[in-house]
Amino acid sequence: MKIVIVGGVAGGATAATRIRRMDESAEIIMFERGEHVSYSNCSLPYYLSDVVDDSNKLLVMSEDKFLNQYNIDVRTLNEVMEIDRENSKVVVKDLSSGETYEESYDKLVLSPGAKPIMPPSITGIDKSHVFSLRNVADIRKIDAYIDENDVKHVSIVGGGFIGLEVAENLVERGTKVSLIEAQNQVMAPFDYDMVQIIHKSLHDNGVDLRVNTAVAGIEDASIKFSDGNALDTDMVIMAIGVAPETKLVSQAGLEIGKTGGIKVDTHYRTSDENIYAIGDAIEVTHKITGAATRMALAGPAQRQARTVANDIFGRDGAETPVIGTSVVKVFDYNAASTGLNEKLAVAFGADYGTVYVIPQDKVGLMPNSHPMHFKLLFDKQSKKVLGAQAVGKGNVDKRIDVIATLIKMDGTIEDLKNLELAYSPMHGTAKDVVNVAGLAAENILNGDLEQVPVSKVRELVEADAYIIDVRETNEYEAGHLKDSHNIPLSELRNRMDEIPQDIPVYLHCRTGQRSYNAVRILKNNGFGNVMNISGSYLGISFFE
Ligand code: FAD
Repeated sequence: MKIVIVGGVAGGATAATRIRRMDESAEIIMFERGEHVSYSNCSLPYYLSDVVDDSNKLLVMSEDKFLNQYNIDVRTLNEVMEIDRENSKVVVKDLSSGETYEESYDKLVLSPGAKPIMPPSITGIDKSHVFSLRNVADIRKIDAYIDENDVKHVSIVGGGFIGLEVAENLVERGTKVSLIEAQNQVMAPFDYDMVQIIHKSLHDNGVDLRVNTAVAGIEDASIKFSDGNALDTDMVIMAIGVAPETKLVSQAGLEIGKTGGIKVDTHYRTSDENIYAIGDAIEVTHKITGAATRMALAGPAQRQARTVANDIFGRDGAETPVIGTSVVKVFDYNAASTGLNEKLAVAFGADYGTVYVIPQDKVGLMPNSHPMHFKLLFDKQSKKVLGAQAVGKGNVDKRIDVIATLIKMDGTIEDLKNLELAYSPMHGTAKDVVNVAGLAAENILNGDLEQVPVSKVRELVEADAYIIDVRETNEYEAGHLKDSHNIPLSELRNRMDEIPQDIPVYLHCRTGQRSYNAVRILKNNGFGNVMNISGSYLGISFFE
């Protein structure tokens, strides 16, 4: 069998090697229009700060290694220009010689990825000091431009994962950075309340973060915003997202989905049974909403590649729909998310509940024990876990991976509460962050706890709501919400007569644990309208 692969990085290279492991006799040709195959695109930003000190280290495999280790014919600087479906051939242009030739296939696997969005509506987008980041050649160009032009200030447009990672690495390099985002927050997979911690971290580390700011044009030494303001800058890096590479499939008349990605079935077959498509270029199905979506992440691309190889050789392995699990480091903080956030849950029409807890990520006595901000979404009817977000200085990925596993297996709050997880004081707490979230969700579902989200605190303060801060007096004196009443948990049983019974009462402490206990004391003493402020003072402090 002759298998031709288009695209030689995450999806393409994984498909090629898996196919070889399935069949020693298959003829495998992998075309890549760029200079390199199988490089670590996810590590590219770290070359700017010298975490990766040599750009050659980004290159995982070479043409020679593919040939010698896998007997795979890799052709870099060869672009597939056309698919001739009728004759099962591709038309290829050798970009070094300019010559065009044909190559036949029995099966064709497309993993052409996605291209950075560079809106032509932004004037000056094609200027020589405007860059995007997709591959090793791009990062080398960015690095060289900074050195050769003595760049002091870079404007990064787009606060997604790539924008944030580039920002951090440029700051580490000693470059001044403005991060410009059209929405009111960076990192779309996170809810507004959770992302405030990242906003603060960016500010604390000297990044000039400008949210609600749309770019209208780029001049030689400045960037102009649609509100008429401008910012002096030496260089611009565009990171506002990617669009699937669909030129080839459109030309070949293959079906494109409504999200703009290549339409595939559950085995990643396109509308032509001999042509598969995987990776950033395709449209996938969201497990929870059932909606068509796109998921430009390396893990799904590699999983899909394996499924395709299996399918070609008659092994079953249909798609498991995506939930979208990702993690990013932003200076001292790590932030991870999976499944639905509130924006998606609302759009989906889910009858969902949330908990926002802030347990320590390790036993408090241990070095590097930090609070972890953890938000969980669950379906109030089925009690299934819908999604989670974690932000903290410790291992957020461990917690989010547990939740991602649970979601993939249709787990409920009950399952989450009962999970048995590894514990020693250096690694976590006996009741891990995720167990705590499960317990808090159970309390809400049982009616043991009513809560208001941290995002409503400003409204409560402005409406002169009755807020009780149950932290100790010294904590309260170090900083508190305007007009809040301080009744420490340790004094609450003796001071209940100070608390009104005829109006709603809102409680908070530092992390929500003491105020939860206080809510229970008041409820068990007949107070009917008592609510915990979810997120508590640590969450509130990021909103001030
Ligand atoms: P790619 O890996 O991009 O490969 C597609 C290749 O196809 C390209 O090299 C392209 O040149 C080639 N090609 C396209 N058309 C043709 C043609 N006609 N002929 C020949 N060749 C062609 N994901 C994560 O999960 N975690 C991360 O931390 C993360 N960090 C990232 C950081 C950066 C800076 C970038 C750019 C991406 C990051 N990603 C991350 C995303 C991840 O790299 C992609 O989701 C993944 O590479 C997609 O695999 P793919 O095979 O679809 O596309």
